[in-house]
Amino acid sequence: MTRDWARGLGDGTRCVHSGLADPVVGEPLLAGPVFATAYHLNGSSRRSEPDYYARAGNPTWRALETAIGELDGGQCVLFPSGMAAISTLLRTVLHYGDTVVIPSDGYFATRTFVAEELAALALTVLEVPTTGSWPDFDGVRLVLLETPSNPWLDVCDIQSLVDRAHAAGALVAVDNTTATPLGQQPLALGADFVVASDSKALTGHSDILMGHVSTVDSVLADRLRKARTLGGAVPAPFETWLAHRSLGTLDLRLARQSSNAAALAEALLAHPAVRTVRWPGLPGDPAHELARRQMRRFPGVVTIELADAETADRFVAAARLVAAATSFGGLHTTGDRRAQWGDPVPEGLVRLSVGCEDPDDLVADVIQALDAVVT
Ligand SMILES: *Cc1c(COP(=O)(O)O)cnc(C)c1O
Repeated sequence: MTRDWARGLGDGTRCVHSGLADPVVGEPLLAGPVFATAYHLNGSSRRSEPDYYARAGNPTWRALETAIGELDGGQCVLFPSGMAAISTLLRTVLHYGDTVVIPSDGYFATRTFVAEELAALALTVLEVPTTGSWPDFDGVRLVLLETPSNPWLDVCDIQSLVDRAHAAGALVAVDNTTATPLGQQPLALGADFVVASDSKALTGHSDILMGHVSTVDSVLADRLRKARTLGGAVPAPFETWLAHRSLGTLDLRLARQSSNAAALAEALLAHPAVRTVRWPGLPGDPAHELARRQMRRFPGVVTIELADAETADRFVAAARLVAAATSFGGLHTTGDRRAQWGDPVPEGLVRLSVGCEDPDDLVADVIQALDAVVT
């Protein structure tokens, strides 16, 4: 049994309670991971129990899938990484000769997967920037959106794109990694799938790889579960349990990251060494109006542009509270100069993942580091 009563309550309450079993005296609040490949069976009927072999199912997955599914508003199918989730979805939905629309400014590994690993499907791939302009969706099988995009944090209108795609018979998936289910609800806006890397803010401690797909369509959910069972890329019970434990603090972490990002974005905007500040929460940001309508909260990621690669590297090195690291969404503030990875962005662009430190400490440290690089 899971706590259905948590449905409809506030974000913090749902994060703490979703997916937990009803109380049993002597049992833990969050049941520990179940380590098993095989389970006792009754000896005669095949698959009479939900658990018979661990590649097909595990009680630890079910608890986290219930929790994330509750937050997403659909059925969640868990995968061992964001790319396992995205690649399984693409392999499941796309057929030979299909046309797929993907973001030209989206996660690089998704673009590479489509171009290289799916090459044998002879897909027509339309790469479109998140700000548009969008092609005619006639004859398109799947539209994959990523909003806010990375690293520019551009935003697209999910609902209006879903309407256009559905009118043309196309499915829509939204990569919701940056927003998380508390920041944005793509299924409620009509999307067929949410895909996400839960290695980022959802788990938030920079220590777990995890991913998921959610959908309200149980036929599609069953197809994804089958693809996972047969594909064999499945999450391990310990990581799954750790992710569930981390989910409990998602509301708290996001609230702090978002308010810290607001303080930092304002301070960065006023600094002469910073050429550009992108954060959808800034009233002057190109993504602000749409983000304010579409999102329930602004993310803890702020992108800045400094003069050049050397300035950006010196800035990150001079900031004691900004660790040079890729990924985002963790407790610790990190900075990633994206051009080092081959992203087609200015050399001096730094994506700051704002952590849960005290705002005054963070702003003071970032400003002293910027002062150090301009003098
Ligand atoms: C990190 C990321 C992924 C891939 O997730 P992994 O957990 O690293 O496999 C996909 N999409 C976005 C937007 C990401 O940031």
